[in-house]
Amino acid sequence: MRRLSPARGARAAAEARLAEVRDRFSSLLDILGEHVYLAIVLPGGGIHETFQGPGAERLLGGAEADAEMANWEAALHPDDRLAYEAFNRRLSQGERAEVEYRLRGADGVTRWVHDRAAPRRRDDGVIEISGIVSDVTERRRMRAELAEAHAAISRVVEAMDDHLFTLRVDDDGYEVVYRGPNREALLGGRLPGDDRSWTDFLHPDDLPRWRALAEHLPLGRPIELEYRLRGVDGVERIVHERLRPRREPDGTLLYDGVSRDVTETRRLEDELRRSARVDALTGAATRGHFAEVADLRLAGGSGTHGLVLLDADLFKQVNDGYGHAVGDAVLVELARRVRAALKPNDCLGRWGGEEFAVLLEDITSGAELERRAERLRVAVAERPIDADGVLIAQTISLGAVRASGGRDSLDALVEAADRCLYAAKRGGRNRVSLVADAGVGTAGGAEPEGIGMARALAYAAALREEETEAHAAEVSLLATLVAERLGLPDACVWRCRLGGWLHDVGKAAIPDSILAKPGALDPAEWELMRTHPAAGADIVSRFAQLREAAAAVRHHHEHHDGAGYPDGLAGAAIPIEARIVAAADAYSAMTATRPYSPARSPAEAADELRRSAGTQFDPEVVTALIDILGPLARGSSRAATRAR
Ligand code: GH3
Ligand code: MG
Ligand code: MG
Repeated sequence: MRRLSPARGARAAAEARLAEVRDRFSSLLDILGEHVYLAIVLPGGGIHETFQGPGAERLLGGAEADAEMANWEAALHPDDRLAYEAFNRRLSQGERAEVEYRLRGADGVTRWVHDRAAPRRRDDGVIEISGIVSDVTERRRMRAELAEAHAAISRVVEAMDDHLFTLRVDDDGYEVVYRGPNREALLGGRLPGDDRSWTDFLHPDDLPRWRALAEHLPLGRPIELEYRLRGVDGVERIVHERLRPRREPDGTLLYDGVSRDVTETRRLEDELRRSARVDALTGAATRGHFAEVADLRLAGGSGTHGLVLLDADLFKQVNDGYGHAVGDAVLVELARRVRAALKPNDCLGRWGGEEFAVLLEDITSGAELERRAERLRVAVAERPIDADGVLIAQTISLGAVRASGGRDSLDALVEAADRCLYAAKRGGRNRVSLVADAGVGTAGGAEPEGIGMARALAYAAALREEETEAHAAEVSLLATLVAERLGLPDACVWRCRLGGWLHDVGKAAIPDSILAKPGALDPAEWELMRTHPAAGADIVSRFAQLREAAAAVRHHHEHHDGAGYPDGLAGAAIPIEARIVAAADAYSAMTATRPYSPARSPAEAADELRRSAGTQFDPEVVTALIDILGPLARGSSRAATRAR
């Protein structure tokens, strides 16, 4: 057996060690997924691989790598060939180089690889290259995704109106390290060559506050502020700014900021706040706001305030006669006239519906209060209101009271003024009253027992006609006012008031088929219908509290000339309360909207009453009624015709 010499044994051992190291190195590279190669540059300029680490096969999708690199070059993506050749050229010239290119694998998959290599000139002049190739397909995909995400974020940032920025803050101050778009939008554009800073555009009044906050930046707390900017276009904008602090890993303090133009938002908010304070129709203060102002001023305790409640006279008839749009227009003009007659510090509020409250300043005497309230009355009444082409002679009634210095709550003043207002109404409207109505208020306002019963009966009767008791209420009010106007004794006024409520209760005895009949009644039906006054009187007579109104009920369809029913009485033979209720009833019926006929205007109804004075109605009663209705019934017949 031949024995190996010791020297040959040592070399074999070294070679075995080298092979082992190379194996380990290869498997390590395999784990890392890198492909390592060694090559030499041939004298002709070509490259010859002298060592192929593992991984080439994986990059080639299964194809075997060969020393002449035929497979490698075949797999090269044609679009990347130029870059690859430039890479090799640099290596051949002994320069370090790197490149990214695509390999189309035998498995049909295209991979991006990153190839970097360093050349070294050997002692024998040969250039030896060591290179490493990594699969960067995934990295490139992620990089592309990231770029897309970034582009998307940029698009969003550009699409929103907010201006985004980042500040870096240290003890010396701050520096803008990121500035998104939209800065110009907040500054109203950009002038060429204009390099003014943000603070140069700040409203001078807001600058100190802004500086104070900027000084707090190093504390690293969130900041929120609002300030005005005067743009290069001269427009003032309100900017809302939020700053959120964050720390870099190295401790650097950054703030991410958002500036937003809130000019329009603030304007809308102002408008909303205003609308809670100002009545949309008339521009007067709302009731709530008026109460706030009045409470404050009254608490001042000077005792020189006056409170006026004013109410549009017979306003329901304006609505009924001309429609709500005309009614609204009248209210607007009424409020305008009242406001024009006020002193600058007086306060006008819409107390509700067609009723307004006024807080007058510097009221030092009752005479002064009356003078100032009277001025308001005249301002409204002095000429008809042109409401959308319709002339309406509108008047107001006013109740006025003086504050007595610190002790008056608004509620107490309003209640007192309301009683005065009621007195003004009862006194004939279109007037000022500083004196309360005796029948209202202190007595608790409770109505006499008879009225409660009359109201209930009227309600029951009206139900069958699918009406409310409103008609009866109106007849009662008008009849009462006419009786007062004619100076009749209290007992007679009372019979008119009751009779107004009760005049139609006899309809309870009329069959539904007649009451609800849409067309004209035939003679037999008329016969039945005509029994309702007597039937009503019969019902009323059964109640001690109502009995005195029986005559008003029984005779409210008698005619002045004797042509009425049930008894054919004429002239003075008809009880006065029945004559009054008859006229009030006719007027109320004419001005009400009925299913079968539209309402007539007050002026038209008044004309009709005038025409029938002396035949159907007592002329004196008609005159009194028209007086009660005031300018409403007198002045506007021409305009009323025009409106229809
Ligand atoms: P008086 O002289 O006794 O005050 O009689 P009046 O008809 O004014 O009294 P009433 O309280 O019966 O009627 C008030 C009317 O005012 C009824 C309501 O429809 C009307 N009104 C209230 N607010 C408005 C409004 O904003 N617009 C219009 N068009 N009408 C209103
Ligand atoms: Mg009114
Ligand atoms: Mg009213």
